[in-house]
Amino acid sequence: MTEIPVFNPLIEAEELESAQAALKMGWLGMGAYVGQFEDELKAFIGADDRYVAAVSTGHAALHLSLLIAGVGPDDEVITPSFNNIADFQAILATGGEPVFCDIDEQTLCIDLSKAEELITPRTKAIIVMDYDCILCDHDRVANLAKKYNIRVIHDAAHAFGSKYKGRNVGSFSDICIFSFDPVKTITCIDGGAIIVRTEEELKAIHEMRLIGMGQPTSVMYQNRRAWTYDVKRLGFRYHMANLHAAIGLAQLKKMDRISTTRRALCNQYNDLLSKIPEVRVPQTSFEEVTPFLYYIRVSENDRDDLRNHLSSVGIDTGIHWQPGHWFSLFKSCRHGDLTVTDKTGKEILSLPMNTSMSLEDGKHVAAAISDFFSKN
Ligand SMILES: *Cc1c(COP(=O)(O)O)cnc(C)c1O
Repeated sequence: MTEIPVFNPLIEAEELESAQAALKMGWLGMGAYVGQFEDELKAFIGADDRYVAAVSTGHAALHLSLLIAGVGPDDEVITPSFNNIADFQAILATGGEPVFCDIDEQTLCIDLSKAEELITPRTKAIIVMDYDCILCDHDRVANLAKKYNIRVIHDAAHAFGSKYKGRNVGSFSDICIFSFDPVKTITCIDGGAIIVRTEEELKAIHEMRLIGMGQPTSVMYQNRRAWTYDVKRLGFRYHMANLHAAIGLAQLKKMDRISTTRRALCNQYNDLLSKIPEVRVPQTSFEEVTPFLYYIRVSENDRDDLRNHLSSVGIDTGIHWQPGHWFSLFKSCRHGDLTVTDKTGKEILSLPMNTSMSLEDGKHVAAAISDFFSKN
């Protein structure tokens, strides 16, 4: 194992106590903690006019969101190719087809002009994803969706705790999803959430996440279950368990510290690394965001050598991501021009950045990168 990891979960006394309380409660499945986690998520986001449902993973949140958006066989869903595999697989799981769109060179979020060119009568929805610390142009997304009457799934897995033009992520999109997997900004070990506009959509999600069982949350959230109910729709075992929600609740309380620490690390990286001509840093001051990761772009000729150099001095790095259209399963999917995606996929590099990391370690990583380029 390397000495400085890319991700490092923040599991402290509060998470352990919270998990222990959930384990001792005598109700391991979905129950009171899940209801409380949803309420506190909603309060944190300030989504007064929205409905929040916790689910088992970000992937499950995406799958159910696409079903809510009415995506099914023969429908197309536009997504950036520069996105998490969970998004592509969730589209396939509905019977729909991913259509790969390019990203914007500056933001690394979907290129909305190119996306508009990909819209056909088969387009049911568009997935827009905030890549880390620079958000999509969500006002333009909403206009595009209105113009063509398509649904928007906002994958905000990287943007928990961030703001867009002063508004909290999660409070303004058509359908928004979060992931609380082991490496995300806050974790439930595994978990996800969907935020929708109507009670009707919330009810559908409640049924779909519980293999179609029409069990009212008013019963479930008292750590009880109804033994008689109807099954009216397709469902999956996608609900969240009390244990996971309890850990998420402990994490939520730390959001101030999580945001401050991550912003400081990213700002320090930007200051130190922008001095190296071979390194391209994100063009932002991280003001309204809680960064999920820290990435740089370097020439494709340097990237692997740099990774090896860092690894040899105990520094781990990551690649987020290999574009979707590079994978065998998605090779035949329809796509537009993907020039920026292809280039970015070869240049992108994630550096160590997490709430447990010290500014000293950040300086050490920056110095090792500086060393590499001064020798090459
Ligand atoms: C992590 C992630 C997902 C998937 O979430 P899981 O909880 O791991 O299933 C989806 N989209 C993005 C952008 C992610 O970063």
